[in-house]
Amino acid sequence: MQEIADVGFDVGLEMAELETVGACLCGAVRFTIRGPLRNVLACHCSQCRKSSGHFWAATAAARDAFTFQSDDGLSWFQSSKEAKRGFCSNCGSSLFWSHSGKDTLSVSAGVLEKPTHLIFGGHIFCDDASDYYPVDVDEGIFETTSAGPCGSKNT
Ligand SMILES: [Zn+2]
Ligand SMILES: [Zn+2]
Repeated sequence: MQEIADVGFDVGLEMAELETVGACLCGAVRFTIRGPLRNVLACHCSQCRKSSGHFWAATAAARDAFTFQSDDGLSWFQSSKEAKRGFCSNCGSSLFWSHSGKDTLSVSAGVLEKPTHLIFGGHIFCDDASDYYPVDVDEGIFETTSAGPCGSKNT
């Protein structure tokens, strides 16, 4: 496990060779991501919940690290003023989150082929979580929200 845990932080030459493969459920959207990926964050905001069906677990990489082998099914929904979400219009897979002010693209961790070499990084917007599951604060809470830091369990 230690070997894997070190990968995300030690971005050396080996990581530059790393390529991660991703695809939607039906295969109409297929892509590769070159190089290292951000640790996985679980976002509990209402937009991520509605778009994914639960909370959304995503990693991210520089936009130019993505190469599409097929984007036939890829559609975008403008989910807020600055952000849009990419999904497959054929099978419905929730795939991407793109913010106009960021040079990275977030991608659903679950659509990436194993081994992903990903590490779970923690929870964000947990005070916006739904009421049927606890957020495991022991897994790390990473980010404050507009309402302030979220520190207490499932409140
Ligand atoms: Zn699809
Ligand atoms: Zn979110």
